[in-house]
Amino acid sequence: MATAIEIFKLLPKKNCGKCNFPTCLAFAMQLANQKVKLSDCPFVSDEAKAKLEASSAPPIHLVTIGSGDKKVEIGDETELYRHEKKFFHPTCYAITISDSMSDGEVESKLKRAEELSFERIGQVLTIDLMAVRNDSDNDTRFAEVVSRVAEIGLPLVLMSERPEAMKRAVEEASLEKPLLYAATEGNIEAMSSVAKELACPLALRADDLETLAKLAVHARETGVEDLILDLAPHRAKDLVEKNTIVRKNAIKRTFDGLGYPIILNVCDDERAVLKAMLATMKYGSIVLFDDLNPAHALPLFVLRQNIYTDPQVPIQVRAGLYPVNDPGPDDPILFTTNFSLTYFTVMGDVDKAKVPAWLLVVDTEGLSVLTAYSAGKLTEESVVEALEETSAKEKSTSGILIIPGLISRMSGKLQELSGMRVIVGPRESSGIPKLLRSEEF
Ligand code: SF4
Repeated sequence: MATAIEIFKLLPKKNCGKCNFPTCLAFAMQLANQKVKLSDCPFVSDEAKAKLEASSAPPIHLVTIGSGDKKVEIGDETELYRHEKKFFHPTCYAITISDSMSDGEVESKLKRAEELSFERIGQVLTIDLMAVRNDSDNDTRFAEVVSRVAEIGLPLVLMSERPEAMKRAVEEASLEKPLLYAATEGNIEAMSSVAKELACPLALRADDLETLAKLAVHARETGVEDLILDLAPHRAKDLVEKNTIVRKNAIKRTFDGLGYPIILNVCDDERAVLKAMLATMKYGSIVLFDDLNPAHALPLFVLRQNIYTDPQVPIQVRAGLYPVNDPGPDDPILFTTNFSLTYFTVMGDVDKAKVPAWLLVVDTEGLSVLTAYSAGKLTEESVVEALEETSAKEKSTSGILIIPGLISRMSGKLQELSGMRVIVGPRESSGIPKLLRSEEF
């Protein structure tokens, strides 16, 4: 969005008050804060309108691939650095199936792709897209494999340089908004026409940014607005450089011709995972893999999860009293905080002990145990309050409260306030199973 001064320069400067503000400058300030609409001033010229509308458009175009529940949205980012606000649309990962594979190979690769799923801090981490590559040069086979892959319900990327193969596959599989990959200098005209006709997003590929910008102009002139850029970086260094140039120019609006999400194809790259990690950290929106084994997928998914969380808002779980391993009134209460990572680690360790227990999760606004204690958000009083709010002492009459070892200094006062026998637990959550299995209980 333009600043108040930039907006003011485009206003008629009549200071007539018809917008309900005494001066054009006052109106410009409200407009910059998005509290009024430009149409509130009846005297704005068409030229000024066009300029202001262009300046309020997102610097990176939002592109949707697929439809329904599993559609993915990429782009629409507003920041160069994550700490300035947050990144909004996580990098999507795709596994590629070649149409020259046998039916059996297609099935087993699909099965592997579907099994690539991990749960971490309450979120399920999976791949987001499937891609089908037209290696056979046979339109019938391509459409057949596309139809089979579409059955698993993920949005698709169709990889072919032949527009007629794309068209047939989209129509036969009744696909909505698959990504067509990729238009190049050699086929831009035909690919743009097919993308326009099928209302699909289109990827553009070129070795240099100048050519890419020309392809983008061509596609837009044909009427294709949903574009994705393949910058075709050869080395890891090129990837970081090119991705940064595109993002920087888009965000700072120094050149908006390449304000689109970026796709990276590492199908034939022996450094696929390294490049995927760089793309995840540096502005990549889609990565196309030939395959991805679980040992590589997990760290990659975790990296993505970390990059695409809001740095100013800790991930939290709901505070409350959680039963673990079917506890009864004789079983002890442990407590921890509602910071997700802490909660899931402690919950996992209590569960692993196979000993019934109650887990009291105290609301610390998503801070971990020691941070919350140091910030005064985890106090003896707040623990007692949580015990009361959850009726924990009625559900567990054992009278035993196990506290995290990191805050052992709370034990005396907490024992006094709660009237329970306080046991100082281990400093590390991994020590919980041993404690719970000990004869003390
Ligand atoms: Fe200025 Fe338009 Fe408001 Fe009049 S109506 S004061 S010209 S912004």
